[in-house]
Amino acid sequence: MHSISRTDQVLLPAGAEPGAPLDPRRWDELRALGHRMLDDVFGHLEGIRDQPVWRPVPDDVRARLRAPLAPEGIGESAAYEEFLRDVLPYPVGNTHPRFWGWVIGSGMPLGVLGELLAATMNPNVSGLQGAPRLVEEQVLGWLGDMVGYPAGASGILVSGGSMANILGLAVGLDSKSGFDVGRRGLAACPRPLALYGSGEAHFSVAKAARLLGVGTGSLRAIPVGADYRMDIEALEATIRRDRADGRQPFAVVGTAGSTNTGAFDDLEALAALAEREGLWFHVDGAFGAFAALVPELAHLVRGMERADSLAFDLHKWMMVPIEAGVVLVRDAAAHRRAFAVTADYVADVPGGIGHDAMFFADRGLQLTRGFRALKVWLALKAYGIEPFADLVRRNVHQARYLARTIREAESLELLAPVPLNVVNYRYRPSDSDPHVLNELNQAILVRLHEDGIAAPSYTNLDGRFAIRVCITNHRTQLDDLDRLLEATVRLGRALEMRRTT
Ligand SMILES: *Cc1c(COP(=O)(O)O)cnc(C)c1O
Repeated sequence: MHSISRTDQVLLPAGAEPGAPLDPRRWDELRALGHRMLDDVFGHLEGIRDQPVWRPVPDDVRARLRAPLAPEGIGESAAYEEFLRDVLPYPVGNTHPRFWGWVIGSGMPLGVLGELLAATMNPNVSGLQGAPRLVEEQVLGWLGDMVGYPAGASGILVSGGSMANILGLAVGLDSKSGFDVGRRGLAACPRPLALYGSGEAHFSVAKAARLLGVGTGSLRAIPVGADYRMDIEALEATIRRDRADGRQPFAVVGTAGSTNTGAFDDLEALAALAEREGLWFHVDGAFGAFAALVPELAHLVRGMERADSLAFDLHKWMMVPIEAGVVLVRDAAAHRRAFAVTADYVADVPGGIGHDAMFFADRGLQLTRGFRALKVWLALKAYGIEPFADLVRRNVHQARYLARTIREAESLELLAPVPLNVVNYRYRPSDSDPHVLNELNQAILVRLHEDGIAAPSYTNLDGRFAIRVCITNHRTQLDDLDRLLEATVRLGRALEMRRTT
């Protein structure tokens, strides 16, 4: 025992009772609680199909979730009981087979265990020596191979596609701004910068422009055609005009699977153009990158392998629990140059834990980083690649089935082409003006959610309110989609009746 100094005595007076220890007093009790939790959570997931997709949080639960903290604590078991009563029954819905909103993965049960194992080791994967950094390096290699990205690329796991886009474009700005932007800052930029993406590019690209300081005004939203793909001629014309106006183009973003409709830009054409123009080519393949896994769909991502940086999500179509995304960067030195900084407390030492300790911290924004690689590693080790390819194939098949059924239905209308897994439709009785149709379909959507039937989301396609079904769900079956359409028509008729009577 070391002796207690006078200052320590002020903090911990003699005879003070310790609070609850953060390591359990009795490990067997916590272990028993843990076993119960595992039984409960797997039971919950196993029976998820019998639950409503979603239900509103009742007022009493809401009130308890706003109550102040009991400073003395209620104990582990009691806290868990509150979780069972107030939290678990009111999910967002995305573990359910009939959830197709936004782009959210349903999550694999093995991932629950992956999170548990990662939290057990609780490493800081900044690059500190140990197995965790090797696991992340291995996972990065596997992911690159899976989507056909060149070997030897750099990369880093991040929270998701948004962060991956921001990091990819940060490397792009650092590499292609034409001056030492990292040191001198944008204020020293001789000419205004410009970057390019389609009007259908994800809003995280605009967020990146804002955060990188180039401003959303520098982001040129290039028009798309009727197929929602970027108009390449319009892109070329805009770049020409920007150069003539004294601007400096630095990057072009290709979308591989747009959020609205699942559209793919012509990545081959964009790769060639970026090369010709000396621009950074970033691809946002949040979910669409996985088309690479299926030979019949791989033509959609042709050219993606030529990207300077490639972003995609693991928590969407790969079913890894949220959060997990990745950015791969072809030029490892460029990647490091964009983020590496030094300080005495992280200076390299020749051995031990701290050797090359900034390996990952030098590739992104975080210093302390979690072990999100483990859940990915575990899934790929356990299942290989085929189940993920199967899932993409099955979900795309389901989307095509849904689109066909909508086309054949009298009172339903398909609102956009379906190149992948996103289907936009609306209920459309014979005689309705556009405004009424929008209100009617919005009301249908809300009823679908609040009755716990199904959870598509929505978008606006040329002023038309679309019920949007994005199938990134390994639990969905074809009759789930039948139920959605049946309910749409039934609710549509009922709502219409109420409106006209
Ligand atoms: C979801 C999505 C993103 C953002 O990814 P997050 O993981 O939600 O941050 C970016 N691009 C596209 C095309 C997306 O669908």
